[in-house]
Amino acid sequence: MVQGSGLAAQKHNQTAARPAAGTDAEPASVLRAIRPENLEQVTCPVCASGKYHKRFRKQDLDIVRCQDCRAVYVNPRLSLDTLCKLYNGQSISNTQYYLRTLQLDALGFAKRLELIEKHCHGRNLLDIGCGPGTFLKVAAERNWNTIGIEVNSSSVASCHAAGLTAICGTFPHPELTGKRFDAIVLNDVIEHLTEPRQALETVREMLAPKGVLFMSTPDVGSMVSRFSGVRWLHLKPIEHLTYFDRRTLRRTLNETGFEIEFLRSMGRPRSLALILDRLKTYSPLLSKMCLSVINERWAEKVALPINPGDEMAVLARKR
Ligand SMILES: [Zn+2]
Repeated sequence: MVQGSGLAAQKHNQTAARPAAGTDAEPASVLRAIRPENLEQVTCPVCASGKYHKRFRKQDLDIVRCQDCRAVYVNPRLSLDTLCKLYNGQSISNTQYYLRTLQLDALGFAKRLELIEKHCHGRNLLDIGCGPGTFLKVAAERNWNTIGIEVNSSSVASCHAAGLTAICGTFPHPELTGKRFDAIVLNDVIEHLTEPRQALETVREMLAPKGVLFMSTPDVGSMVSRFSGVRWLHLKPIEHLTYFDRRTLRRTLNETGFEIEFLRSMGRPRSLALILDRLKTYSPLLSKMCLSVINERWAEKVALPINPGDEMAVLARKR
């Protein structure tokens, strides 16, 4: 995970008692962490303005909108130190969840890599927040030279067991000093970072000339987000600190030295079981009805391509 420039490699970490993805329930250890001494006031992560108004309250935290650039962010938020403890204590975003979805994630990641390959001719790749190495493995099988960085030691152990190179620590990391990459990937990571702009500036420095950045992140400007309001499943203020829409993402990338070549919504294959579990967030009754008539083990095996339009993927080239 990332420290200096925020929590970068942190997101795929954590094992232990994570609730089913998409639910609001959090382990008691996480909720206990929300105490005044663990909170910090911040300015807008996109434009540094201190002017904001409250939008939502969830998980005992406020989600606000910047009055200047309209970025959405958590304020006050858990301090970096507290977040690190939660990630390393496997209290949030646990490794088991990512291992459970590994096969379907690999299918989705192959599509993402195809996109990267269309825009990038080099073969050296860094995956920030690589988790148990699903993306690294897909890339290695397609003849990329890969390195991952991940704060969670159990996830890094999974990488090593699979024969993948992964650094356990935060980004930037001394072991990466002087290295240059043709592609740097942040799959569902930027929203977790305490300093997303600083992270992107560092990413830019580490890219080879004309190198590319690939990111995916929730889209707070999407229809699903707008209609769901506080129930939007990506609204997880303990760990998701900044909520971009296309405009604020464009601005951030332009200001940190990138030229956007691709920006659109991107889905991913998901098991029917996970889809029904997430449906609970929006319609508990419908979810319950479906689960009562669908065999659970069968639902685990059935995969569907899902794109509700509330996650965006961006590919940007270093200027
Ligand atoms: Zn702002």
